[in-house]
Amino acid sequence: YYNSNTIIYLDGKFDKAINSSTDLYGQSLHYGYAAFEGIRAYKTHNGNRIFKAAAHFHRLERSCQLANIPFPWDKQELIAATYKLLQLNKLKDAYIRPLVFCHPNMKLNEPSGVSILICAWEWEAYSGSKLLNLGISKYERPNPKSVPMEAKLSGSYVNSILATTAAKALGFDEALLLDMNGFVAEASGANIFIEKDGKLFTPKTGNILPGITRTTVKELCHVLDIECIEKEITVAELKNADSAFLCGTATEIAGVAAIDDVVFRPLWRESIGYTIQRAYKNLVLEKVNYEVII
Ligand code: PMP
Repeated sequence: YYNSNTIIYLDGKFDKAINSSTDLYGQSLHYGYAAFEGIRAYKTHNGNRIFKAAAHFHRLERSCQLANIPFPWDKQELIAATYKLLQLNKLKDAYIRPLVFCHPNMKLNEPSGVSILICAWEWEAYSGSKLLNLGISKYERPNPKSVPMEAKLSGSYVNSILATTAAKALGFDEALLLDMNGFVAEASGANIFIEKDGKLFTPKTGNILPGITRTTVKELCHVLDIECIEKEITVAELKNADSAFLCGTATEIAGVAAIDDVVFRPLWRESIGYTIQRAYKNLVLEKVNYEVII
């Protein structure tokens, strides 16, 4: 992720990653009390572009609000700093990771101060040709009454790590998690859509991270005249689907080959997901001017 030349952005200053250190007595390290984002930048014919930068920094602020973490920064300045960071590191197709973390304090109360780190690394865009084998996880997504599921909080990702590790140990590519009521929720780091009878369905918000890519897919459905319905999805509906795909900033649009022992029959290239996958690529690379706010 970094080497001796890598530059990071920390609280208004650019510095070498190797010169920076973090405090060992903070709530973020000890309790996972921190908020973060995952953003992608693409090399387009219009130059390097951070896809939906405003939406991502908006969600970062909202995650902080939901967790009582202060957010004393100007989002436009953070976006400008991120562009500068890409330039300083000579990055084009990159993954960007902003992290808001708390200053030294070992108590279980409000933060005594906050910092913002932005780092970035080369991350080739997802090729999209590989189809994923998903396993329904024995881990559930946390109950939103325990921790706000709309917030992208570091501590919540222990659940994602446990589920992914368990899924991989069983030979799956990814874990698919249910919510506390047994409905389909999301993968450990991506949202899910299923196709049935020419329509798309995706779990409604409440028990999932409302993904920015999920919103983009809905926007593309609108533009492409594909019906897309948000509802509670049962495991039976999932396994009866004609096709399925995952979506997320890192994942982009990834087709699903099978869920547990159920293999989807129609070819991926004939699925709605494939149409969305190509449209998404064209959108992020600014090859087609869809009516979507980027
Ligand atoms: N769900 C979870 C749990 C995630 O970690 C992510 C990745 N941020 C997503 C969904 C997809 O969100 P986005 O499209 O905003 O990247």
